[in-house]
Amino acid sequence: AERPLTGKVALVTGASSGIGEATAAALTAAGAAVAIGARRKDRLDDLSVRLRDGGGTVLQLDLDVTDEQACADAVRRTREELGGLDVLVNNAGVMLLGTIRGADTEEWRRMVNTNVLGLMYMTHAAIEGMVEQGSGDIVNISSVAGRTARKGAGVYNASKWAVNAFSESLRQEVTGRGVRIGLVEPGAVTTELNSHITHPGARAASEAMHASMRVLQADDIARAVVYLVTQPSHVAVNEVLIRPTDQE
Ligand code: NDP
Repeated sequence: AERPLTGKVALVTGASSGIGEATAAALTAAGAAVAIGARRKDRLDDLSVRLRDGGGTVLQLDLDVTDEQACADAVRRTREELGGLDVLVNNAGVMLLGTIRGADTEEWRRMVNTNVLGLMYMTHAAIEGMVEQGSGDIVNISSVAGRTARKGAGVYNASKWAVNAFSESLRQEVTGRGVRIGLVEPGAVTTELNSHITHPGARAASEAMHASMRVLQADDIARAVVYLVTQPSHVAVNEVLIRPTDQE
């Protein structure tokens, strides 16, 4: 089918930039009605206009995933206002690279609260309805950093390791209930992610790594998400690791 997600409803967290924004657009292009959540309202306003101009159905959500009640409200509003929830893309994340020694532990809390607890809150809010309807996709955006630990990325690595473990455990828990849990693990993608790093050395190293190769575009990851959620219902693509061809 040309628009294989017609009649489906998706919710994308962290849709105000980068991979989340591209994924919301790709799901819309594939025919889904899409709820877009993040904290920056101006950016969501722009995306809403763009998607609606293209004929999309959009619900804009003021969503900070570190707020458990906001996560529950986002899922409830999506079901009420878009008529269901078939695809949850847990994409919101921060990568505050730096050494463990000397770290500002406030950055650890931001990473764990967003990348780990935020993803868990959203999943907790969404999973029951999916099991009840006997279908649904939860796609968690992890990282190469969820499979390969490096010095200078310890807590980010730990947060993505947690995402992978949580996803696999939940996959087993809902096996046989029609619900698929998928992991997408990108390598270097050009987005705003690096811009939030405060550790000068870590930020320079990450920027140099990006500058040294043909990095991925957010769209390259969005295509993988669409691939997962458009498989026949008996096919669960559990895990997709995508590096730039030039990335070691
Ligand atoms: P961006 O910084 O461009 O996007 C991050 C998104 O997350 C923004 O939309 C931001 O929105 C949102 N976000 C951050 N904190 C919160 C919060 N508390 N509540 C809700 N939304 C939040 O980076 P990317 O697109 O690259 O990152 C998306 C995901 O991809 C992350 O999970 C990241 O770890 C992962 N990833 C990225 C890679 C890369 O190389 N770029 C590689 C591997 C994985 P706002 O600030 O408006 O709330």
